[in-house]
Amino acid sequence: MDTNVSNSWEQRDMQAVFHGFTDLGTLNAEGPVILTHGDGIRVFDVHGKSYIDANSGLWNNVAGFNHQGIIDALCAQARKFPGYHAFFGRVADTTVALSEKLIELSPFDAGKVYYTNSGSEANDTVVKMLWMLHRRNGQPQRRKIITRVNAYHGVTVATASMTGKAYNAEFGLPLPGFLHADCPHYWRFGLEGETELEFSARLARNLEELILKEGPDTIAGMFAEPVQGAGGVIVPAEGYFEAIRPILRKYNIPFIADEVICGFGRTGEMWGSVKYDMQPDIIVASKCITAGYFPMGAVILGKAFCDALMKVSEEAEEFPHGFTAGGNPLGSAVALKSLAVIEDEGLLGNVNKVSGRFMARLKKLGEHKYAGEARGVGLMGAVEIVADKKTKQPLPGHLQISERIANKALKKGLICRPLGQAIVLGPPFIITEAEIDQIFDILEETVDEVF
Ligand code: PLP
Repeated sequence: MDTNVSNSWEQRDMQAVFHGFTDLGTLNAEGPVILTHGDGIRVFDVHGKSYIDANSGLWNNVAGFNHQGIIDALCAQARKFPGYHAFFGRVADTTVALSEKLIELSPFDAGKVYYTNSGSEANDTVVKMLWMLHRRNGQPQRRKIITRVNAYHGVTVATASMTGKAYNAEFGLPLPGFLHADCPHYWRFGLEGETELEFSARLARNLEELILKEGPDTIAGMFAEPVQGAGGVIVPAEGYFEAIRPILRKYNIPFIADEVICGFGRTGEMWGSVKYDMQPDIIVASKCITAGYFPMGAVILGKAFCDALMKVSEEAEEFPHGFTAGGNPLGSAVALKSLAVIEDEGLLGNVNKVSGRFMARLKKLGEHKYAGEARGVGLMGAVEIVADKKTKQPLPGHLQISERIANKALKKGLICRPLGQAIVLGPPFIITEAEIDQIFDILEETVDEVF
């Protein structure tokens, strides 16, 4: 790092920027990476060094870092009508058009869309929708939210409570009433001799026991990511959603698919909830909706839930909730263009075209002596580092090992993500097979050097 050079970008960063979700020991030792621009799947730092970003920014820059069509859409909207709220009965025409497009793309026959600036805000908004709906329907006690161990739903107070990660204990979270069901990770939690279907059936029984213990009429809703992303790319066990769906229906518990990562093609389908047959009442989307070019979250309400919420909102005279920049026309124009790029300009098609190569190289990395499971779908994948393939025990200091791999790879010009004891990859949808090979060539070399 250039912290010795007085007034270097690195020094200025260290003095002025408070970094969240950053290992501060590594930051202090290695310094920050200060980026200036991007080109395709690469980003460039202030010294001109280039990096392949195998995480698409944070799962979102799927069209690459300089897509002219999206940039043009943003500039055109900025010239036409750059910013307005979506309250008080006023909304930009572009936002209406985006809402129609999202409903058309969604698995719902009809419905409505509510806008936020982020995935966290979108999930948080759904919690308030659930609470208001149940309260107005004479069930004010129906407030508990079920999510799952290893889930990631955001950072607001409610969504951090929904997130099933130990670090939220730093904030004294989760709040009471936020319940965490089992994580559907067969490789990690399956019992000796238990088949994948038996595992899913056991998790469904556990879920029903949890609902009965808490009281079905105290549960407001259940949220699930189709594939747990920040949990380490946990692809659901076979039959998992088929097993839990009837239980939620039995107790009339609304089911919300958090598609912030999976939505718009990451799994190879437009929706992860369709791929895994979740049949949700609500879809929460963000990230790829604007290909990372504008902050936006969207709550897509299926018709039945939407009608029920509209009814109680009319009784209350409004749904008293909103973000100043939610449904901003700039974001809406960027989203319309990004969705067109994903759907019509072949990005979703490319995910399916190159996913075979991605998974093959991932599995090959999984053959390494210290690799446990190599798992993934579409263009999302993870390799778990273990001390012993059989016992699946982590290596001592396992967090440092995945971080060491990621830090070494960074020096070689590859951005990948250490997550617990796993290395996680989620490259942009525009990636070619040759670029996939570059990523894994660097990773294989790095892993060999670390061990
Ligand atoms: N839900 C999921 C599944 C996510 O992966 C994320 C972020 O990574 C969020 C919600 C929160 O989104 P945001 O960071 O935009 O608030």
